[in-house]
Formats: sequence, structure tokens, C-alpha cells
Amino acid sequence: MKIHEYQAKEILRQYGVAIPRGEPCFSVEEAVAAAQRLGGPLWVVKAQIHAGGRGKGGGVRLARSLEEVRAHASSILGMQLVTHQTGPQGQKVRRLLIEEGADIRKELYVGMVVDRNTQRVCLMASSEGGMDIEEVAAHTPEKIHKVHVDPERGLTDAEADNIAVHIGVPAASLPQARAVLQGLYRAFWDKDASLAEINPLIVSGDGRVIALDAKMNFDTNALFRHPEIVALRDLDEEDPVEVEASRHGLSYIQLDGNIGCLVNGAGLAMATMDTIKLFGGEPANFLDVGGGATTEKVTEAFKLMLRNPKLRAILVNIFGGIMRCDVIAEGVIAASRAVKLTVPLVVRMKGTNEDLGKRMLAESGLPIISADTMAEAAQKVVAAARG
Ligand code: GDP
Ligand code: MN
Repeated sequence: MKIHEYQAKEILRQYGVAIPRGEPCFSVEEAVAAAQRLGGPLWVVKAQIHAGGRGKGGGVRLARSLEEVRAHASSILGMQLVTHQTGPQGQKVRRLLIEEGADIRKELYVGMVVDRNTQRVCLMASSEGGMDIEEVAAHTPEKIHKVHVDPERGLTDAEADNIAVHIGVPAASLPQARAVLQGLYRAFWDKDASLAEINPLIVSGDGRVIALDAKMNFDTNALFRHPEIVALRDLDEEDPVEVEASRHGLSYIQLDGNIGCLVNGAGLAMATMDTIKLFGGEPANFLDVGGGATTEKVTEAFKLMLRNPKLRAILVNIFGGIMRCDVIAEGVIAASRAVKLTVPLVVRMKGTNEDLGKRMLAESGLPIISADTMAEAAQKVVAAARG
């Protein structure tokens, strides 16, 4: 799960990381009032969307007067902000962060991810802050310093200081850099983050170490123990179809093709999409209905797929293990009737009570195309989608 910059900064502040004074705003008037409270002479008007690269896209602007704050807030609020992370359609800006402007002496990079190989949190840091860290990694990897943190000890003083020295923090600012790095690590750990990034972390003219930007993603599997993080969710930033899907316990991801896939199990869903592509088709979605595919779930799944105007055909591919094929057939029949299915439907089912399930589909009177193997199912649905 992703959150906004201002929310990530508030979390980091609670862990002792220095951040600029600032306020989130939802309107131009709020932005001007916030700027007035913060006081000049310099402000930053920042678009809040769940994507980086906002600076280059015109979503981060400096203002030297309240009039400029107003002008920038007016142009950024409501804009369709395009960055290298949003895709060409961009993301609509509904929130702003108004901050006091910082006096930047140095821009640094620090980030943390879970490294699966070492099974530890990996701290990465670089003197090359403010730019794309992917670029730095590709062209000057020697400028990225890493520490794999021992979960028993946490990030030690020595490790923090060593990293800070390597990325060029001046000696007088080392205690502050240590507080930032250790605070970032503790926040990452406590909140079950999957990624935390401060880019840029700056050293200011007077030697302070401040997080000028902040990004945190969280492990969705751990959200049950963080209601305070769930409360930060902004549904406007998420695909409405995927939000609806998660409400019904379905894993759904919208894709670009025209063949809807309804499958039980993520692995089988991936294999199904591969097989469709192998026979020249393009999947319209990934959809895993999970183990307990009830009639209700299957109906909701059909509804989600049918929202997609590109949809030309549906392939249902079910392995009946714990879930029996006759139960699935019942669900598919009920769902097809409930949604008044308008596109061809190919069904392949294998496993427990397969024969019974197939007979039920055949006797339902619905125009269901039955298939026995994955290849046959994929070929039939690709042909059906072509009309
Ligand atoms: P991003 O482009 O989405 O990563 O947004 P950032 O929050 O990182 O802002 C982009 C850039 O704007 C930063 O790398 C800074 O160079 C610049 N910037 C942000 N805040 C300030 C500030 O207070 N003062 C100055 N001078 N520049 C800033
Ligand atoms: Mn940034």
C-alpha cells in the first residue's frame, strides 16, 4: 500500500527525522492560508500523488510571495500530472503540500527495501540525491553504499555514521544524519514497510539534515496490525476496479487486452495469461478468485471484468481441488445469468467432480464453450474474441 509524501513525512517525524514545516491542503484558499501561517520568504508548493518524478513534471514549484503560492496552487491543483511513474495519462492532483522552502547545500539519497536474498532490510545511500536513483545505479553503481541491517541489533551508530561519511555528510552534521538513518530504520521496521525512501535528504546551509521528500510503501499482508496506516489509504490514487475487487476479496489487476480471465490460484492465473498470449491473444486482466470461489465471488468477478469496455470474451479456468467443479459450475451459471453475459464464455475445469460440472454447464442452456486442455481453451477464447 502506498501513502502520500506528507503522510510519510509525518510518520518519519514521529521517529525523530527532521522534516520541513508544512501543511497538506485541499484547496487554493487553504494553500494560501497555510503559506501565511508558515511565513516566508520562500515556500514550496508540492503536488501530492502516489508517484515520484513530480518535480520534472511541474508538480513541485518554488514560490517567493503569497501571490506566487496562489498561482502555483491554482495551476497544480486539478492538473493531470504526468511523470515517468504515472503513465502517459497522468494522475489528477487533489491534494497539495505547502512547505517552508529549504536552503539546500547538498542533496543526498537514502532508501530502504527488504532484501530477499539476505532476508534483511537493506539501507542504500548515495551522494547523488535529487535525481533518479535508477540512473545512478545503472551508470555509477560505485556511488551507492549499502548496509544489510542485522534485525537483532538494528542499525548501529557505527553503521549509520559510516554510511553518512561515505555519502558526504559533513562531520558537524553526523549526529543529525545518524538520527535520520536510525529513525528511518525504526519507522520501516515498526510499520512493516516494504520500501522507504528519502530523496533528497538534504544538508541545509546551516548544516541541518532534513528529509525534503519522503516515500513509504507498506506490506499489505501486515496491514491488519496497522490500522493507523490503513487510515491513510487514499482510494482516489488507486484503480477503482481494483479497489472494488479488494472489497470482495478478489485479486484483480487491469491489463490492456480484451480477453477476461477468471482463474483460481495466482500461479494458474499467470499460466492462463501466458497460454492466451502464446495463441496470439491479449489478457484483459489478471484475476485470482482464490480458494473459496463462492457463487457471490464469481458473480462479482464477472461484473468486474464486464466493466471493461474492451472486453470481447472471457476464459474461466478452474482447478477443482478443495473447491469442487460442480460448485464452480453452479457459480458460473448463476453469475452468467445474474450479469446477463454479453460476450462469449469459454470454460475449462479440471479436478474433483469435473464430469458433473461439465454436464451442468452443458445442460444450463447458456452459450458456454467448453474446453478440455489449457491450449484448447486458449485457442477457443482467442477465436471467440476475434468474433
Ligand atoms: P519528486 O520530483 O516527486 O521526487 O519531488 P521532490 O519532493 O523530490 O522535489 C523535487 C525537487 O524539487 C527536489 O529534488 C529539490 O531539488 C526541489 N525542491 C524541493 N523542495 C525544495 C526546497 O524547499 N527548496 C529548494 N530550493 N528546492 C526544493
Ligand atoms: Mn524526490
